[in-house]
Amino acid sequence: MRHIKAEVFSKKILNDTYVEVVFANKFNIQPNPGQFVHILTKATFIRRPFSIAGCTDQWVRILFKIRGPGTKKLSEVKKGMQLDIIGPLGNSFPSVDKKAKIYLVAGGIGIAPILFVAEQFVKEKRYFKLFYGARNHKDLLIQFLPDGEYIKFFTTDDGSFGKKGTVVEVFEKKSEEEKPDIVFAAGPMKMLEKLSISCKQHNIDAYISLENIMFCGLGVCQGCVIETIDGYKRVCKEGPIFNSKKIKWNLKN
Ligand SMILES: Cc1cc2nc3c(=O)[nH]c(=O)nc-3n(C[C@H](O)[C@H](O)[C@H](O)COP(=O)(O)OP(=O)(O)OC[C@H]3O[C@@H](n4cnc5c(N)ncnc54)[C@H](O)[C@@H]3O)c2cc1C
Repeated sequence: MRHIKAEVFSKKILNDTYVEVVFANKFNIQPNPGQFVHILTKATFIRRPFSIAGCTDQWVRILFKIRGPGTKKLSEVKKGMQLDIIGPLGNSFPSVDKKAKIYLVAGGIGIAPILFVAEQFVKEKRYFKLFYGARNHKDLLIQFLPDGEYIKFFTTDDGSFGKKGTVVEVFEKKSEEEKPDIVFAAGPMKMLEKLSISCKQHNIDAYISLENIMFCGLGVCQGCVIETIDGYKRVCKEGPIFNSKKIKWNLKN
């Protein structure tokens, strides 16, 4: 983990609410898929966490949705500006057997950490399938998907692209045809809960990237804890990647 000042290489507003920011990679260690950066947006004193969506020796990419003041301010950065960043933080998706059948499942902006995994898997020539769902065609960031020989399934809530319905429904159907050895997923909590229940029923290991309101990002303040069967765990330190079987789901429908 390092505290860096990184030059912004580019910023793109992708549609009304999504933004891509690429900045100089000044970390002295290479981030692993699943890790995140904590950025001082200057809109607030508290940093904002973002999954690393892609990375080379030269640059790091984040993709985010404009939600409140922090992300709004970050959407206004310009090429050449310096960003105050701490990272890479948190754990990462586990390493898996070379021959494992891996399914990646992303909902909405949950595509950010999944893109980084997919890029790595394409490089490693692994067998994987991608399930990617969003509210509508506009919200699918298809242009960021790496080229490669893997099967992709798309869903939208309104049917404007891919199959109408949820990404978990399509994942369940395809898992009946060919059971994956392991699942990596990121997206809204409700989607992750449904996916986790389904994986548990079918005895499939799933690792999910969790989000929570976060303050220090360093494991000190305990502000981002979530309840697991092993007690409370910090999303910033023990996470953000968790074995889905460990999470105590308590969302109401
Ligand atoms: C490990 C981690 C990785 C993340 N990666 C990404 C990413 O790659 N792309 C992306 O768009 N977002 C990501 N997020 C969420 C992102 O950090 C929040 O959207 C951002 O902090 C909101 O800041 P804000 O000042 O714009 O909005 P705020 O005013 O702080 O919040 C706006 C709304 O979003 C909710 N919110 C704020 N923070 C979170 C959060 N962490 N989780 C869930 N809801 C939140 C608030 O309750 C409020 O309703 C990640 C969060 C975590 C913890």
